[in-house]
Amino acid sequence: MAPDPSFGMADDAELVVAGAGLTGMLLGVACAGAGLEVVVVDPQEPAAMLMPGFDGRTSAIAYGSRLVFDGIGLWPDIAAEAEPIREIRVADDNSPLFLHYDSRDLGGETPLGYIVENRVLRRALYERARTLPNLQLLAPHRIAAVEASATGAVTLLDDGERLRARLVAAADGKESPLRQTAAIRAIEWRYGQTGIVATVAHARPHGGIAVEHFLPAGPFAILPMTGNRSSIVWTEHADLAPRLLALPEAEFAAELRARFGGFLGEIEPVGPRWAYPLALLQAERYVARRLALVGEAAHVIHPIAGQGLNIAIRDVAALAELIVDQRRLGLDIGDDSVLERYQRWRRTDALVLAAVTDGLNRLFSNTIPPIRLARDVGLAMVHRLPPLKRLLMRHAMGTLGDRPRLARGQPL
Ligand SMILES: Cc1cc2nc3c(=O)[nH]c(=O)nc-3n(C[C@H](O)[C@H](O)[C@H](O)COP(=O)(O)OP(=O)(O)OC[C@H]3O[C@@H](n4cnc5c(N)ncnc54)[C@H](O)[C@@H]3O)c2cc1C
Repeated sequence: MAPDPSFGMADDAELVVAGAGLTGMLLGVACAGAGLEVVVVDPQEPAAMLMPGFDGRTSAIAYGSRLVFDGIGLWPDIAAEAEPIREIRVADDNSPLFLHYDSRDLGGETPLGYIVENRVLRRALYERARTLPNLQLLAPHRIAAVEASATGAVTLLDDGERLRARLVAAADGKESPLRQTAAIRAIEWRYGQTGIVATVAHARPHGGIAVEHFLPAGPFAILPMTGNRSSIVWTEHADLAPRLLALPEAEFAAELRARFGGFLGEIEPVGPRWAYPLALLQAERYVARRLALVGEAAHVIHPIAGQGLNIAIRDVAALAELIVDQRRLGLDIGDDSVLERYQRWRRTDALVLAAVTDGLNRLFSNTIPPIRLARDVGLAMVHRLPPLKRLLMRHAMGTLGDRPRLARGQPL
């Protein structure tokens, strides 16, 4: 085989990934699995990131995202701890009208998605990374600066070490130091809402049903986990959230019961409570010279539809495909043309979901009577129009549009 010109003699890696969160590790594992030399850098201790107490979040993984894990051969390591979502019920406060998505309406047994604890995803990714000799995890280390030129990118680490590569991917989260040093501006605002996250044990089985209950302060989501457990994502006014988080156990449980209703029988919160300030962010560009933004470095959306990580997974699937195809042709993976194609492929999906989630949050987080009426009529209409409902279901499942190979469950 001819030597690969995209990986020059002087390079330390082909791809440097900033951030070993779910997005960065998925990108690293996907690309290294396809043969690239990859270095992933993160300032946090890997052992701390793998502790059960690191992140209380669970993620609603759309069916299309599960296909990405299939494509890189990781789904078998996750499946036993992933709860299939069979139905989604959306209810508006005390209104009798509600929207009901049922996976059976699409024919067949395919679930709408899965609820998976973030720690399960992180563990699967780190374990796979350890088996890939061409993936190096440099942690705890911080990327201090990136110097990009026509011939390559030099990444400067906090200990003074320099890494030469063809391309740098910024998966360094919503504050993205790399986005800032590349002078990429972002549109952003805070929602004045906090996402309170906790796990609840309940007497009755959930039957794979996810419930989203729209309350005046924001959505209250009950997401089915393995066993008789559900994860809640409770959106509250930011100024009220600290008081709720500090409540004694019995009072916190009483607040939860008031919002749950009785459909799962007796409920009991288990484990710690978590709080995430909610914001929207859209980077004006997803690329700069030899730099691609992925995941929350590029876009942060309201968790109302459980789609933030799903968009990140589609970013990874698209970028990995473009890089791997370019490399197979023996071309430079950090070339401007690759980055432009990545930006074109990914921006619309992320912008549409930012607009939809922002609109839904504004529409449902208020009590003005005409708006309530309009949204209830809207929910009822969707419910009564099966073709529209099926289209919305397929959109939420991430199985529409121009999907990268991985998002169709195919290998890179
Ligand atoms: C309450 C809540 C519920 C959610 N529920 C869902 C859901 O159901 N479904 C869904 O799809 N999404 C959901 N999301 C969104 C999802 O959690 C995020 O999209 C996802 O976790 C973002 O991951 P990330 O890897 O892009 O960023 P992060 O997890 O923030 O990772 C960034 C990493 O970069 C590292 N880093 C920072 N600076 C540097 C540097 N200089 N050099 C190197 N590394 C650096 C950090 O240490 C960190 O490890 C939810 C979000 C919230 C807040």
